Parts: sequence; C-alpha cells; structure tokens
Amino acid sequence: MKVTSVEVVRSEKPVPLPMPWRAAWREPHGTPATTLQFSMYRLSTDEGITGIGPYTGGDPALVLGADPGRIGEFWSAHMSGRRAGESGHNASGMEIALWDIVGKAAGLPLYKLLGARTDRLLVYAATSRILDTQEHARQVTELQAEGFKAVKLRLHRQDPWEDLEAVEAAREAAGDTLMLLVDANQNNASEGYRFWDRRTALMMARELEALGVYFLEEPLPRTDIEGLAEIAASVDMFIAGGEHTPTVYDWREHLLHGAYDILQPDLVMGGNLGITGVRKVAEFADLSGRLVIPHVLLSGANFPLCLAPSLHAIAAVDNCPMVEFPYDPPVLTELTTQSFIKHPFRIDEDGMMQLPEGPGLGVEIDEAAFGEPVIVSSVSLDD
Ligand SMILES: [Mg+2]
Repeated sequence: MKVTSVEVVRSEKPVPLPMPWRAAWREPHGTPATTLQFSMYRLSTDEGITGIGPYTGGDPALVLGADPGRIGEFWSAHMSGRRAGESGHNASGMEIALWDIVGKAAGLPLYKLLGARTDRLLVYAATSRILDTQEHARQVTELQAEGFKAVKLRLHRQDPWEDLEAVEAAREAAGDTLMLLVDANQNNASEGYRFWDRRTALMMARELEALGVYFLEEPLPRTDIEGLAEIAASVDMFIAGGEHTPTVYDWREHLLHGAYDILQPDLVMGGNLGITGVRKVAEFADLSGRLVIPHVLLSGANFPLCLAPSLHAIAAVDNCPMVEFPYDPPVLTELTTQSFIKHPFRIDEDGMMQLPEGPGLGVEIDEAAFGEPVIVSSVSLDD
C-alpha cells in the first residue's frame, strides 16, 4: 500500500468559546483565546483507505509515497531524534494517520492491533484556569457529580500560598474519595510570571503531599533534572512531568536520573513522538518501575484526534493508571472541543473512558458540521 495524496483540511469556521479563555499557564499576562480551530491531515492510499490525524505543522510531502505497513521506517526517518534531529519534522500527525490506515486495513481498532491490555481507561478531568478559591470548590464537586474520579487543578498564582488555599478548599469540598492532581506548569512560557525556585518547589511539594494530592506536575522546568530528582526523592507523592520533552532520547535522561515518578509524554505536541515514540517511552518507563500518564494536548477543536491515539497507544501498555482529559466547563466542554466528530468521547459511571471499537482510530469526522471544509494544502503523487 502507498500514500498517494495528502491534504491539510481545516474547518471553515473556528468554534467560538462561550467566554474568553486564559489558561493558567498563560497567567498573568497571556492573551485569552476566543475560538478553537480544527485542522487535520487526510491521507489517501492506492487501496482506497483514508487515514486522519491532527495537523502538527509538518510538511505533508514527508508522508507522500510512504507505505503504511512500514511506520517504523517513517518514524525513524522523521521523528526519532537521531536521524530527524532534535527539532524533528513535526510529523506526529502524519504518523497517527498512518496508524489509522493500518488499523482500517486490518479491520481492528488500533489498541487491539497494538496488543490491548484493557478496553477502558480511567481519565482525569484536566481543568485549565485559575479561579477564585470558592469557584474551585464548586467546580470539583460538579465534576464529581458528573462522574469524574480524578480532577486536576492548576497552580500559577503569583503567591504560591494562594495556590495552596485553592487546593485546600477543593479538598475540603470534594472529600477524601476524589483523586486530586495539581499542575504547577513551571515549564511554560508565561509572560510576567514569577517562577518557583527549587526551595519553593520543594516546600510546595511537602504542603501538597499533606493535602493528599496524588501527583504534582512540573514543579520545575524539565531541564532542571537534578532539582526534579531532589524533589521526587524528598516526598512520597508522585512527581509528574515532561509534556514538552521533544524526543525519546530526552526521556532517557529523565528516567535515568529519577526526575519523574510519572512520565507524561505527549503524542502530538513536540511533533516527534507519535504512537510509536510514546510506546517506546512507556516501555522504558515500565522496565524502570515508573508510571506513564500521557499528556493530551488541547490544540483546538481537533482535540479528539489527539485523545483517540493517546487512548489506543496507552491501552496496550502495562504501567498507565489514567489518561488526561482536558475538560473545564463552561469553556472546554464536549460542545467546544468535540463538535466535529460523530461519537464524542464520554466517561462512564466509573469515570472511565471506553476505547473506540471502530477500525483504526475509530474517530468519524462529521464533515457536515464543518461548513465548507477548507483544503489548506494538498500534495499528490500525480502532481
Ligand atoms: Mg501540564
């Protein structure tokens, strides 16, 4: 089989958000977003099978002529970090589309093709904003009522003691049964923010541990491997992180030096991991006695194309207790993040998500909801 043409498809209109969205990691001076854009790769083959993946910025010509039966070759050439270099080629969306084709050709959902361990996974609601303390308390109880068993809060106030007050209020409102997770987002570009130093990060880790927090994410920049390892060794609570880690080789350093108890590779964001890379990281982590909870990017309204491959990749490994699910009503909801697919991802009564059973990624795009789809670029073997 051969990829004969590649299109980058965008929806005609971006999805409007009900209110301006300033994510915590952009505090205090970031410009709020008002819409979410949808874009994807669509690969056609000489056998009539089409594959889709989230648009990740890489040149569509990279995958033209590729054999979907040889994804390892594609990954090695464009994403490995050795041949592709540190920055890679932002090809992960195309790699995901190749996996979609392979699954469709086999007539199997990807997670089964990859060697399923389970057919449903616990997800945590990843909230995204800094709210008033009482609003956090209200939101966690609402999320609990919706069925979530685990919720993540953001810490990004200028005064870390105020961050702790918000976590304390959420813990008090939710009771002991909710798994409370926190993300300090100390590895983002945040204009005007006073980042934590090592002592502050360690102090926060100890306070959060006392509040029964399940994991603390990114207490320091990912490059401060020594500082992260010190914190991880000083508390019993899990230290998590690594969403911006660009290649599998960078993960090696984190693992060998004990920087993280929970690794959070993202299939899409760095552009170099994809399904193949995340599975490599997960296997290495498993053999090193570490857990993996994939970071799932909310890149826009094409979010389901990031979530689906994350679920498939990770349902086939042994060391993943849950998956991230960006969800923050009233801004990030099914309506705003999943409006272009036919069967939105939802949790069941146990707070778990069923793996899609359709072949490949099992995601059906609702083209009618697009308006007129816009073909941003297109390459073909006939050109
Ligand atoms: Mg994060």
